[in-house]
Amino acid sequence: MKQGLFDLSGKVAIVTGGNGGIGLGMALGLAASGAAIAVVGRNEAKSAAAVADLAKDGHKAIAIAADVTNEAAVTAMIERVRRELGRVDILVNNAGINIRKPPEALDIAEWDSVIATNLTSAFLCSRAAHPAMKAVGGGKIINIGSMMSIFGASFAPAYAASKGGIVQFTRSCAVAWAADNIQVNAILPGWIDTDLTRRAREQITGLHDKVLARTPAARWGTSADFAGIAAFLASGASDFVTGTAIPIDGGFSVMG
Ligand code: NDP
Repeated sequence: MKQGLFDLSGKVAIVTGGNGGIGLGMALGLAASGAAIAVVGRNEAKSAAAVADLAKDGHKAIAIAADVTNEAAVTAMIERVRRELGRVDILVNNAGINIRKPPEALDIAEWDSVIATNLTSAFLCSRAAHPAMKAVGGGKIINIGSMMSIFGASFAPAYAASKGGIVQFTRSCAVAWAADNIQVNAILPGWIDTDLTRRAREQITGLHDKVLARTPAARWGTSADFAGIAAFLASGASDFVTGTAIPIDGGFSVMG
């Protein structure tokens, strides 16, 4: 698909949490359209494996070890991408965690770590990428929400707050940076088979079958389901699309 509307040849994309799951699925989609990829995560072995995965298909990719909740680490990460890959065109704010507890059982450190990882990180990375995007005449930011951007769940108070917040942050950046030709959109994944939800399936009895019954497409999503939306939202095909929150959920959010 390295052609026409979705062509990303010569573009550079940063994918936080790009070393596995949904992030790697998006990185593979962006790379297939021609973008060079910076995979950002804390686990260096996982990031090296993701880069090897990308390189095996002939794509240009580097791994950067960084904690996206750390302001100095984020600044250094963006500088390194500019130095090693030359520019920043696309930022995917995908890093995320969940701590599954009801509100009354969640302590402040747990609340803070979920908000920092899922929401503050997107602010830090977007703010740091903004000058680099302006320098090349525009950019694309893709933030990762969740079905919890729309619905509540008894076991996800901080997670749902962070994912609701990410949608409003998306809209604010879309408005603020439209004049800089930077389009900012969110995607809201349904239930996707990744490390994150593997743990959820262990912790929540019956979750696997409940998701199947509640999803019109009658399957869990896979990381490969995110390649196409990443290419679309990162390419010229979406130049008049900004501030949206697009469910990628097999119909979960419209099931009556
Ligand atoms: P994974 O656990 O597979 O991926 C999470 C990624 O985030 C890892 O690559 C991890 O890398 C990275 N990460 C976590 N904390 C940090 C940090 N402080 N600094 C840098 N990187 C970090 O989960 P998914 O692929 O499922 O999740 C990806 C995103 O999609 C998350 O935002 C999640 O909330 C969202 N999502 C997932 C859904 C699902 O069903 N799976 C549904 C809805 C939303 P490392 O450990 O190396 O730091």
